[in-house]
Amino acid sequence: MKTFCGRANPTTGSMEWLEEGEDYDYHQEIARSRYADMLHDKDRNVKYYQGIRAAVSRVKERGEKAIVLDIGTGTGLLSMMAASAGADFCYAIEVFKPMANAAVKIVEKNGFSDKIKVINKHSTEVTVGPDGDMQCRANILVTELFDTELIGEGALPTYEHAHKYLVQEGCEAVPHRATVYVQLVESKRMWSWKKLFPVHVEAEDGEKIIVPPSEMENCPGVPSVCDIQLNQMPSSDFTALSDVVTMFSVDFSKPVQSASTYYRVQLEPVKSGKAQIVLSWWDIDMDPSGMINCTMAPYWVKPTSALQWRDHWMQCVYFLPNEEPVLQGEKLYLTACRDEYSVWYNLQKAREGENKAGEEEHKADVRVESPVCRCRAHLLWNRPRFGELNDQNRTRQYIRSLRKVLKTDSVCLCISDGSLLPVLAHYLGAKQVQCMQPSRIDLYHPHELWQAFFKANHLEDKIKIIEARPELLKPSHLEDKKISVLVGEPFFTTSLLPWHNLYFWYARTAVSTHLASNVTVLPQSASLHMMIVEFQDLWRIRSPCGICEGFDVQTMDEMIKDSLNFRESKEAEPHPLWEYPCKSLSDPKEVLTFDFTKAVPQHCLSTQGSVNLLRKGRSHGAVLWMEYHLAADISVSTGLMQMSNEKGNCEWNPHCKQAVYFFSSVIESEILSDPTAVTYAINFDTKTGEIAMDFKL
Ligand code: SAH
Repeated sequence: MKTFCGRANPTTGSMEWLEEGEDYDYHQEIARSRYADMLHDKDRNVKYYQGIRAAVSRVKERGEKAIVLDIGTGTGLLSMMAASAGADFCYAIEVFKPMANAAVKIVEKNGFSDKIKVINKHSTEVTVGPDGDMQCRANILVTELFDTELIGEGALPTYEHAHKYLVQEGCEAVPHRATVYVQLVESKRMWSWKKLFPVHVEAEDGEKIIVPPSEMENCPGVPSVCDIQLNQMPSSDFTALSDVVTMFSVDFSKPVQSASTYYRVQLEPVKSGKAQIVLSWWDIDMDPSGMINCTMAPYWVKPTSALQWRDHWMQCVYFLPNEEPVLQGEKLYLTACRDEYSVWYNLQKAREGENKAGEEEHKADVRVESPVCRCRAHLLWNRPRFGELNDQNRTRQYIRSLRKVLKTDSVCLCISDGSLLPVLAHYLGAKQVQCMQPSRIDLYHPHELWQAFFKANHLEDKIKIIEARPELLKPSHLEDKKISVLVGEPFFTTSLLPWHNLYFWYARTAVSTHLASNVTVLPQSASLHMMIVEFQDLWRIRSPCGICEGFDVQTMDEMIKDSLNFRESKEAEPHPLWEYPCKSLSDPKEVLTFDFTKAVPQHCLSTQGSVNLLRKGRSHGAVLWMEYHLAADISVSTGLMQMSNEKGNCEWNPHCKQAVYFFSSVIESEILSDPTAVTYAINFDTKTGEIAMDFKL
């Protein structure tokens, strides 16, 4: 069997469907999966084990046999815990075949084959009866089917089905209950991920303000969850407007309903401000008494307790449809609407002198439909991209650079997805501005958004959109003029790794014949930078676990390692490092440069060398990022912004993902005797646009 995998080609900027062997998909799934992270989550594992022991004891005390149903067994961990705790039999259900196979091996290796039956099915396909998958219904239901939003991985329909068909009435459930908490906040930083703020431009003839069209102002955005490591958000970046409030809970030991519904709570702001964001997280009680609690609460909620780092469960940021000024002490209603898989929020003010009847009335106008982007901007720009476009410091660098290169007779072409550069170029005096927005089958058609945008700013006849791809550019698109200024941020929505934005270079090469002989290209060049780091926590996601709560899970470690090494050379992976603190062990080093004033060369660009390690620490990997040299003395970094102190703490660009290459010492869990230098070989293949790298410690 062959599978087709979508992948952006950095030399054409578009998606291509590559035929891959049948193994490819599952190797990707395993290699990039969160299984390792879950096995490293000590707090989770310990509490599941305590909860499972307690549930088995309760059933035994009633004089019953303990029959366990473990839905989504993964490595088989929770079933092995149950068997060790004295369960009589466990049915371990796992839909993902490679994992079910791994579970069989792990269960056998740990000596539980007679107590645990692994069933490779989706739980809704499982049959009960003398000839069925399960001999009888279970009286203990164990699952770990939660994502950061709790219900995004389908926990509710799975529980609903299990209670109807697979478990006995009055069964014990581990976890017993989940509770979702919310806190209303004002945060310019997080709000900047939802909407475009007005952009101020100092032009020759006074200040110009670029405004979003009104549809964008009132657009509810997209329903996909915004999950982040909220513990990396400094308290100075938001203001709490309410206390932490319980929004809703689900009792997993009783029948569960998955149908759409809503929950509402009354709030009284503890502070006046602009209600913009609902921060949310959940906890699970492993037992009915609530004594065994596993929480995702961020640092400011229980400042004294030690935080467990984990990446498989984080916290959620929900954007209210509109920003709402609220007063301390006034009455508000916060509504959480949910369908089977996602949650969204709505805030309403209580009306004057409201009574119970009034409250009922309110319920009628609770908005139940999930947010759908009407303005199209949320389909073109994702949340980090909104943040980037709203970054005034960054905009200022582009304005300063454009001012240096633009003249009143400039003919300017912009090549970047969803960029405001054409508008800036127009206000800064370019005579003729066009931007390339080729529509692609794989991407949302951006033309109508731009029309609305230009209309809101009275620019309809000022900036021309060219829908052709660079290689199909014709002189007529440019009104038979040559391009005197070619600009790009560069930014392309299909880029995954930092160097994929080098598509700008390929596009520049494709339009070479349209460039004036004295053309200015902005950025004039780019450079690839590298630094060796020790991660505070991120290393865990790729590091083997070995023994987990006394169970040997090395089979899983081996599987992950094989999948990581499936490709001949390992690959770098994108991570937003502002969420994943690390310390630098070397100085940052510029390793390759790309000269945009010239066409992409035929030959590869290679470099090798070594970097000295200046600080003590574990060399987990290399971080790589791009810097763009816009004009003389003006550069923007998509990676390191600042190294803040002698300890090597780093500040990363908050809008971009950086490339992380994990060293094999992390993947093999080797302890190295203090290396003093790292040698590297890096190769940019101009034919494919990909960068391959190799490191030795
Ligand atoms: N129980 C393991 C793994 C949890 S990850 C542990 O705690 O370490 C969740 C697993 O559940 C995944 O492997 C996923 O493939 C599986 N899964 C999710 N929903 C399922 C369902 N309804 N039926 C069977 N497997 C499911």
